[in-house]
Amino acid sequence: MLEKVVIANRGEIALRILRACRELDIKTVAVHSTVDRDLKHVKLADESVCIGPPTSTESYLNIPAIISAAEVTDASAIHPGYGFLSENADFAERVESSGFIFIGPTAETIRRMGDKIAAKQAMQEAGVPCVPGSAEPLTTNTSNNAKLANQIGYPVIVKAAGGGGGRGMRIIRGDEELQDAIDLTRAEAANAFNNDTLYMEKFLETPRHIEIQVLADSYGNAIFLGERDCSMQRRHQKVIEEAPAPGLTEQQRHDIGTRCTDACKHIGYRGAGTFEFLFENDEFYFIEMNTRVQVEHPVTELITGIDIVKQQLSIAAGEPLSISQDDIKISGHAVECRLNAEDSDTFIPSPGKIERFHSSGGLGVRVDSHIYSGYSVPPHYDSMIGKLITHGDDRVTAIKRMQGALQEMVIDGINTNIPLQLRLMNDAEFIKGGIDIHYLERLLAAQKA
Ligand code: ADP
Repeated sequence: MLEKVVIANRGEIALRILRACRELDIKTVAVHSTVDRDLKHVKLADESVCIGPPTSTESYLNIPAIISAAEVTDASAIHPGYGFLSENADFAERVESSGFIFIGPTAETIRRMGDKIAAKQAMQEAGVPCVPGSAEPLTTNTSNNAKLANQIGYPVIVKAAGGGGGRGMRIIRGDEELQDAIDLTRAEAANAFNNDTLYMEKFLETPRHIEIQVLADSYGNAIFLGERDCSMQRRHQKVIEEAPAPGLTEQQRHDIGTRCTDACKHIGYRGAGTFEFLFENDEFYFIEMNTRVQVEHPVTELITGIDIVKQQLSIAAGEPLSISQDDIKISGHAVECRLNAEDSDTFIPSPGKIERFHSSGGLGVRVDSHIYSGYSVPPHYDSMIGKLITHGDDRVTAIKRMQGALQEMVIDGINTNIPLQLRLMNDAEFIKGGIDIHYLERLLAAQKA
């Protein structure tokens, strides 16, 4: 096993990684910005190193500072968590060339999957169904672009090849909007991702977002851990996730899962990963691959009993997968609510001191959060302060438990989105199951009106 791991992240995922390391007797090094000295995992880690000021570019995105921290603490590996440097191929390369193990796939795989055009091409080769559209970068030739849009059929969506976090995409409903929309998206993409390459695909009107969790080792073995439904989204960002996806049949799960594990073998994938799909009229359409652990991994852990972060650590240590596809049994249903420090109606971030915190608990309730009474949520980072996850024998039980757990949770001193999550857990359409990715936006618009 690995001896000592640098946790190159913050917040709840840093704590999650620390917990997995402890179970495996791996020593931990927390790296943190000056404003994050009081993070829970920093206190619990065997060692900690301050890597810079609050601004992410000078701390959590500061590659030389993180590598130096690994050097001075004589660590063996670096876990990037999600966000920050987790899908930065240059970082993975620097980690390995400095003599450390990067807990994730190879830099080459990250680079290939991080370019959404290259990823789509690789998936087409591997027989994974993709959203209809161009597998080539868009040119600046307006009439060619119009021809392409008409071939695909409006509405289309223009997306940045290097995009992420739900940004860098625009829906186009007719020729008259095309040129301006492409120009705007190109400028945004250049600005946000330092890469102005765009591509175009069919905009699906009422799909669900269903994703497949995979694990692959360095010896060509790959398994899938079922799927998650992450259709409850605002601004292309997930708000609620659940597993399994309501209504998906065992046959559908098996078919799409097998395509994903075949694709893992095709691209030489290593580690934990997620294939994201849109799902409409019983068809799956690949949109992208995430080459890291995801925020919503706990729902899969609860229905399969597999610790995904521990799996990441053992794969990185060079161990073969100890579980086979036949070992994967789905048991019950799990739901996750993301908890954000933000106003529940306006979504305005609400950093500040948590005056009082009482956690939910009980059978089938899991709280993945770094917050505590007296902790100050800094304004510099993502507003997510934790995740509440419930598990039950069936979906109804998991939702009921979530309603109770949300009501039980007390976070005073800052605003949170708990009121919104409670409304959604009581929403008749959500309870029915199978809402599409635009459902929440429609609901919020209707409430505003
Ligand atoms: P990101 O890397 O920014 O998360 P994705 O490609 O995963 O980008 O897309 C994020 C979300 O955007 C999807 O979950 C979905 O809500 C929406 N989306 C992306 N592509 C399409 C499409 N072709 N049709 C409809 N919605 C889409």
